[in-house]
This record gives sequence, structure tokens and C-alpha cells, in this order.
Amino acid sequence: MQAIEAFFPLLSQPQKVVITTHQKPDGDAMGSSLGLYHFLTGLGHSVTVISPTNWASFLNWMPAVDKVIDFEKEQPKCKELIADANIIFCLDFNTLSRIKNLEPSISSASCVKVLIDHHQQPQEEAFTYGISNTAKSSTCEMVYDFIIASGNQDKINLDIAACLYTGTMTDTGSFRFSSTTASVHRMVAFFLDLGLKHSVIHDNMFDNFLENRLRFIGNALLNRMEVFYEYNMAVMCIPKFDLKKYDIKTGDTEGLVNYMQSITGIRLAAIVIDREEERKWSFRSKANFDVNEFARKHFEGGGHKMAAGGRSSDSLEKTYNHFLTVIKQYETELNN
Ligand code: 5GP
Ligand code: MN
Repeated sequence: MQAIEAFFPLLSQPQKVVITTHQKPDGDAMGSSLGLYHFLTGLGHSVTVISPTNWASFLNWMPAVDKVIDFEKEQPKCKELIADANIIFCLDFNTLSRIKNLEPSISSASCVKVLIDHHQQPQEEAFTYGISNTAKSSTCEMVYDFIIASGNQDKINLDIAACLYTGTMTDTGSFRFSSTTASVHRMVAFFLDLGLKHSVIHDNMFDNFLENRLRFIGNALLNRMEVFYEYNMAVMCIPKFDLKKYDIKTGDTEGLVNYMQSITGIRLAAIVIDREEERKWSFRSKANFDVNEFARKHFEGGGHKMAAGGRSSDSLEKTYNHFLTVIKQYETELNN
């Protein structure tokens, strides 16, 4: 993977660009993709954003989200666009397995591939150019840096600002995590000077759900959470029954894992959700417990040191028991 500076000259010719991101895109994945979409479209390139799967409806206010194509719904069209592209951008993921059924088409494409990502251990050999920086708050912040480094700060408009603000805000827990550097605040100040209405974005992202989601969260906290003080850990196990009962859709479970971290002393919060195709784990940690390593080692996953995810093909009960077995190895570490 070559340094991103070597890529910039390619922007001076009109290119056919595909932008993709990880499956079930979150605020950072969708925000960085659409932020880059608006920037590159403004430069005169022909750009399409392809998502490997569907996404949460609370992202549907984002400018140009209606132009994003869901690979699972429109495979032939996506494959054609990928085959025809000169440049493919891969945003907010470190390994091609994160793009699910889109992986074969992207792997076999012979065009220029560019990675912009902040996850640990990126698959560098899969990309021509790229930036990987685990110290960055979000891929949105990295797209902002990319635009500045390419000498195009003056091209940042309100659509770009709204998209990039969104992912930076969601990936920093509303500017709360330690990844929220002075540079993050300077970027946000730039967006506000431009006229960005940040409170509208917070409303769109957090105050736009149905009642059933709140009832679902209430039930999860009351009936689906176990706290293991001997491990400084809380674990939530969400059965399919709950997802059906409360009519839970993509994105409705986002952030649920964070509630458990508000209990004093909790160092590890874990949640497993019984999804259609797999059991999906989310891990959050405090005080140096490395959930990226943990998810890699035990649950075919990864992510960041303090926020990671994983998966299992086992039943909910089996994967939960597996978790309770392997966590025993970490008792001393979690107790210190
Ligand atoms: P979440 O728990 O919110 O789904 O994900 C937390 C972080 O871990 C995110 O940065 C996400 O991209 C990453 N992540 C989630 N699931 C997986 C996975 O299965 N594999 C890898 N490599 N990263 C994941
Ligand atoms: Mn991210």
C-alpha cells in the first residue's frame, strides 16, 4: 500500500469511482462514504456509493443517501459499476471480509484501490494506496484530512460537512472518547463557521426512533443483562424473540452495549444478538482491556482496542457459554 500523497495526481483527471464501506454501515461508514461522494462529485468525477447491505433508517436524512446502492438488492448493477470503475475507495474497514458478499467483486477488481480507515491491523496488501491511522477518531476525520491534504479545503460545502460531522460525532460517542483530539474540535469549528447546524444532526440521529425501540432497550436492561462483578463485566444476550416482539430493525440495537459501561467499575461490556444469519457480538472496554485482541482470538472479529465486534455461527446459548468459558482466562486481568 503506497502513501496517499502518491494518489492525489489521479484526481486531476475525471475518474469513474466506486466508494464502499463495511456491512451494516454505521454513522462513520455512511458519513465518510457520502462525505467523500460529495467531495469527488464536486471535482467532476463520476461516483457511486455501494453498501454491502442495508443500513439503519436514522441515516436516511443524509444528503444523497438515496443514491447509495444496496449490493444485496441490486447485485448485477453493482457488479457492472465495480467492473467499470477506475478507482475503488474502501472506507472504515480493515479487511475485505467486512464487506460480506461484496468481497469477491472487490477483491477481483484490477483497478486502483484506496483504503481510508482507522481500525487495527489493516489488510495492506489488498490496496494500492491508503491511509490507516488507528489514532484517528473516525474515518470521517480522515476523509477531512484527505480533502485538506489534496489542497481542496475550499471545496468543503455544507453537505460534506454534515456527512463528516455525523461520523465523527458517532464514533467519538458525541465527542466524549479519548480519540476526541484538539484536531477533531478544530475540524468541527471549521464546519460550524461554514454554517453547519449540528443540533439538527443530533436530533436526526438520536431523537428519531419509534416507541418500541425504547421499550426494547428497557426490557434488555431489565431482563437480558447479567453483571459479573468478579470480572468487572456486564453481558447482554438478546434472543430472536425480543427482536420480533419489539419489531427491531437494522440499527435499533446500536449503542445498547454502551449503557452497561455506565455501571461503576465495569471494565468490559459485551452484547450478543441473535441475528438471522449469525450471532453478532459487540465488545466495549475501559482501562486497557484489549477487546480487539479478544474479538480476534475468540470471535472471528476485531476493531479497536476499546470497541470491537465479532461473530459466531453457533446457537445463542452455545456462543454465550463459549464466552463465559473463555473469559475465565482473563479473570485476573479484568480484576486488576
Ligand atoms: P460495533 O460493536 O459497534 O458493531 O463495532 C465496534 C467496532 O468494531 C467498529 O469499529 C466496527 O467496525 C468493528 N467491528 C465490528 N464487528 C466486527 C467484525 O466482525 N470484524 C472486525 N474486524 N471488526 C468489527
Ligand atoms: Mn469508524
